Amino acid sequence: MLESIVENIVSSVRQVMNEPEAGLPLHIPVFGKNAESYVVECVRTGWVSSVGKFVDRFEEDLARYTGVKRAVAVVNGTAALHIAQLMVGVQPGDEVLIPSLTFVATANSVKYCNATPHFIDVCPKTLGVDPVKLDGYLSEIADVKEGVCINRNTGSPIRAIVGMHAFGHPFDIEGVQTVCAKFGLKFVEDAAESIGSYYKNQHTGGFGDVGIISFNGNKTITTGGGGALLTNDESLADRAKHITTTAKISHPYRYFHDTVAYNYRMPNINAALGCSQLEDIEALISCKRGIADRYLKAFESNEVCQIFKEPADCRSNYWLNALVLNPDFALKSGEIINLMHQHKVFVRPIWEPLHKLDIFAGCPQMDLSVTLDLGNRIINLPSTPSLD
Ligand SMILES: *Cc1c(COP(=O)(O)O)cnc(C)c1O
Repeated sequence: MLESIVENIVSSVRQVMNEPEAGLPLHIPVFGKNAESYVVECVRTGWVSSVGKFVDRFEEDLARYTGVKRAVAVVNGTAALHIAQLMVGVQPGDEVLIPSLTFVATANSVKYCNATPHFIDVCPKTLGVDPVKLDGYLSEIADVKEGVCINRNTGSPIRAIVGMHAFGHPFDIEGVQTVCAKFGLKFVEDAAESIGSYYKNQHTGGFGDVGIISFNGNKTITTGGGGALLTNDESLADRAKHITTTAKISHPYRYFHDTVAYNYRMPNINAALGCSQLEDIEALISCKRGIADRYLKAFESNEVCQIFKEPADCRSNYWLNALVLNPDFALKSGEIINLMHQHKVFVRPIWEPLHKLDIFAGCPQMDLSVTLDLGNRIINLPSTPSLD
């Protein structure tokens, strides 16, 4: 019986992706017409590394595209998350609220600051932070003392919240902003997956004190490996640039560094790819939204599973389409994924909820029932766009 259900899903996926036979990867990079010439230019001129015109251009183009004052390009999204938390003042011993239903980088970056991830639940309508549930929880376990939110159970400051726009679908940003204001929390947006996604007509990543994007090879656009911080705060951007470039004081040839810092700068050859990708981003996203439309229609009246739809008032990039199995199939997702792989449709399960990993055992957490439920029922479908 499961076999025929899977055959049915496979045939819908193949129809949507217009690929009757070949293996279907989850998401692969797609490059437009200038990608090669920009990279070749780096190679021919020797400007492949830490200096070069493409880094500046990429930062300017990215800031313009996302509607923020400043973008700071770095080596990857995880490094951007690390720096973002340092920039909002996360200190050793602090707690940082993050969804359990996210990629491991969100939690690892909290650890890099010698802080503790404090796991919170998500909303079934957005797959991101549920601000109503969070408000209720914080009201029970936290006090605000001299503007600082203190966890009554652990005595530690809860410094910040890192919200994440899962698969490109924006979470309830205004709801989270309200909770941040009420409890004195800094707000970091993990927009790693949401370039080209808008919340009420404004690009994601620009709402928080600072936001971050990833340009890893499997994301909507890629620089090979890369990431960026986004902010409207000029001084935060200057500090982020400084600390990601070894805190070197500008001088023609002397090595003066005013703090122990990081070598997180994005190399020019990666930024070259990024510049070409930003030239093509509108075409890529409109293709991705077309794929999502076709998936939504193909599974509209399916009795086993549906496609997750962008939240109200949002425009999602639909980075990875998410197939949500009905509760009856919650325990079957592993088997379904296995069978789909046998059909060469290389789907992936949603992340293992992070609070279940041994490496984060003992971290504080709220009730995570929605996370546990959705964590068993979501399968990501092939979502690679094309430029033809
Ligand atoms: C991809 C991703 C990151 C990390 O980005 P890298 O560039 O791979 O380091 C962080 N958070 C989320 C939610 C991601 O999906």
